[in-house]
Amino acid sequence: MDEQVRQRLRQEVAGKVSFNVPLAPLTSFNIGGPADCLIVPAHPEDLKKVLELLGEYHISPVVIGNGTNLLVTDKGVRGVVIRLGEGFKKNELLERGKETVLVSGGAAVHLESLITFSISRELAGIESLSGIPGSLGGALRMNAGAFGSEIKDAVQELTYMLPDGTVHSRLRDDLAFCYRHLHLPPGAIILKALLKLRHETRPVLQQRRDEILSQRKKYYLPKYPSAGSIFKNPPGHSAGRLIEEAGLKGLRTGGAQISPEHGNFFINAGGATAQDVIDLMDRAVQKVRDLTGITLEPEIRIVGEA
Ligand SMILES: Cc1cc2nc3c(=O)[nH]c(=O)nc-3n(C[C@H](O)[C@H](O)[C@H](O)COP(=O)(O)OP(=O)(O)OC[C@H]3O[C@@H](n4cnc5c(N)ncnc54)[C@H](O)[C@@H]3O)c2cc1C
Repeated sequence: MDEQVRQRLRQEVAGKVSFNVPLAPLTSFNIGGPADCLIVPAHPEDLKKVLELLGEYHISPVVIGNGTNLLVTDKGVRGVVIRLGEGFKKNELLERGKETVLVSGGAAVHLESLITFSISRELAGIESLSGIPGSLGGALRMNAGAFGSEIKDAVQELTYMLPDGTVHSRLRDDLAFCYRHLHLPPGAIILKALLKLRHETRPVLQQRRDEILSQRKKYYLPKYPSAGSIFKNPPGHSAGRLIEEAGLKGLRTGGAQISPEHGNFFINAGGATAQDVIDLMDRAVQKVRDLTGITLEPEIRIVGEA
């Protein structure tokens, strides 16, 4: 990265700017190379400044949240990674109606802490997502879901910033959510969302959450670093079951392994490289396709230089 860009980023950005930053510790897989530059903008105005400055040098940043659905390549990211900072972590109860309540959540808020916030105010609608380890921004971008519910079900409005620094808000009906994805304009960075929640008593919500967390513990909680489900479920099928029926549970490539407990969880069993994971994914895709004709598609996002 050009020394002039580095210097301007250091001088003009209010948040944290670091160079040659290992990304593996910022991901739940604990895999991947460094980013040339990691910027943690302090607040939305700061993000606007960052995007305008990067725009001058034609640098398109990669945005990450909690890194729980990411595989960073071994070479890492050439250019800039943005991770939203403290100024994007505000939860607010905005409007209390007879039946519904509007809650605003910042994109960098941990989904789990937003669920705790809602339950403590006796609000239902997102408790089924308990245990998903992402940020709200990542959950929205991925349309995270579990136990028959998706984050889109609760969204009333979403606000994002485009690479030119302009801010846009879109109502639920104007947002193109689909299975594990939200279509947004290129380079859009989600800033916050307005969620429409319902009244419910705290014991009921807490019980629902406890049940979900215990189900997760029993069936879904990998004992090693992972990125959750590696493949999307093909229509009418479970990716985990297809991999299990192909006899692939426990299969290993280098340090990457298909969890012996759950076919759709690929784990970093120790020292896995991104290439190990990609090779293992290719083997699973090939075998499942040969046996069933079904092509598995990745749910995880792969970022960085190939
Ligand atoms: C143990 C485990 C269990 C999991 N269980 C589930 C589950 O039950 N259901 C489920 O759906 N997922 C699950 N996941 C996957 C993951 O937690 C979710 O997809 C989560 O929503 C990702 O959020 P994140 O902040 O970690 O996003 P990241 O992994 O950091 O990013 C994911 C994508 O979102 C984009 N992104 C992140 N923040 C923003 C932003 N502010 N603006 C624009 N784009 C952004 C990134 O560019 C990337 O493309 C699990 C993961 C693990 C490790």
